[in-house]
Amino acid sequence: MRAELLITPGCRHAAESEQAVRTALEEVGVDGGLQRIYVADLDHAAGLGFHGSPTLRLDGQDVLPPPPRTPINLECRQYEQPDGSLAGVLPEGALQAELKRRAAELEQASAERAARPGVAELPARVSRNLFLWASRRRWLARVATGFPLTRPMVRRFIAGERLEDALTVLERLREQGLRWTLDVLGESVSSPESAQAAADRYLEALDALSERGLEANVSIKLTQMGLGIDPELCRSNVARVVERAAQLGAFVRIDMEDHTKSDVTLEIARSLHGGYDDVGVVIQSYLRRSAADIEQLIGEQIRVRLCKGAYDEPPSVAFARKVDVDESFAQLMERLMLAGRYPGLATHDEGLIARAIQLADQHGVGPEQFEFQMLYGVRRDLQDWLVEQGWTVRVYVPFGAEWYPYFMRRLAERPANALFMLRSVVREGRGR
Ligand SMILES: Cc1cc2nc3c(=O)[nH]c(=O)nc-3n(C[C@H](O)[C@H](O)[C@H](O)COP(=O)(O)OP(=O)(O)OC[C@H]3O[C@@H](n4cnc5c(N)ncnc54)[C@H](O)[C@@H]3O)c2cc1C
Repeated sequence: MRAELLITPGCRHAAESEQAVRTALEEVGVDGGLQRIYVADLDHAAGLGFHGSPTLRLDGQDVLPPPPRTPINLECRQYEQPDGSLAGVLPEGALQAELKRRAAELEQASAERAARPGVAELPARVSRNLFLWASRRRWLARVATGFPLTRPMVRRFIAGERLEDALTVLERLREQGLRWTLDVLGESVSSPESAQAAADRYLEALDALSERGLEANVSIKLTQMGLGIDPELCRSNVARVVERAAQLGAFVRIDMEDHTKSDVTLEIARSLHGGYDDVGVVIQSYLRRSAADIEQLIGEQIRVRLCKGAYDEPPSVAFARKVDVDESFAQLMERLMLAGRYPGLATHDEGLIARAIQLADQHGVGPEQFEFQMLYGVRRDLQDWLVEQGWTVRVYVPFGAEWYPYFMRRLAERPANALFMLRSVVREGRGR
């Protein structure tokens, strides 16, 4: 259960209410902790569905909802107390009762799911692992990429197969006030020629971006540059891309793949950063090592994109529970926002985004000091809202024919995508 206490910065009842909530959570035995979110203004309040301070939300829902038609506002909220009076503090007894009710509901829902497993109800971890397993099967990639009906499903997350398709998408993003990083899809190549060809495609993309006057910012994967064949081949391919980037004043981000590549990825990024400043890396909050890596990268002034992590990792190296991955993200994010060099906060998690905004407001960190990053096709509404609020948002825009593993990781993140897309394909098929 995700518990969030939403308060306005000067709320007089915040501390007492927080104490009441913490006691109630403990009494009922709900773990996962309590996240405090400061609501800065009416727009922020509208985005959160906030009807006054303090408000407690469980899994995104107001726990003691106000009467219908209560407007969005930043005033103090009144709660009925055990003696029938009204006061600004959340009443502990009512909270406990509500928490117990929610916990029982969750337990019942999970028992029902276990008794009647369907695709949509499969426990998230099982379906996530299934999609991640499928993402590594080359024979499935061959089947999927040759099957014409997969194309409309894939288009939601991929800008197209050709560079030209991607450039058109970037021009549209520019009109919407968004920024981007371009990814030429491909990973785990099996021959030196394919690795060299991948680097060539990046050179072509950098040139095209610069010729069109579009911001030149690319994301690359080391296994696409030949890491699995020969680390030296990989180094020289990446160096070619970075050299061209340096000529054009472009930024190169090295994506992070599974944990067996973490050390070599960081090492290559460091050596390139020594010669050209505009090379950045990615840190995954699910890895237990990440706090130490972040400290080192802060010291070296290397730009970090922080994400949760998209691969199937063993518990010996990665947190298994989502709540721990999220908490780790929150802590690393705070370190980066306060001490890092222009970090990229790559998440679609509204709770974490709200927390970032709250931190920025609290510590006077402006939109020119960090950016939010999102994947193309995932949360356009949230991207637009953040831009409207004056924040910087960069969209990760992948294109190319080798979309299969990238696409499967997107399904793993939200298995409901698979059903949703299958339905739309069936509908389109019927319409034809
Ligand atoms: C710009 C960017 C770059 C990235 N680079 C890397 C990288 O280099 N290495 C790496 O391991 N991972 C990378 N990732 C992926 C990342 O690790 C996560 O797997 C992914 O972002 C989902 O996590 P989340 O933070 O959005 O949180 P979640 O808790 O997974 O999701 C938060 C909310 O967003 C929604 N959501 C999340 N993903 C999707 C989706 N695919 N479709 C629809 N809704 C979705 C969820 O339903 C949920 O409501 C990157 C992500 C981004 C945004």
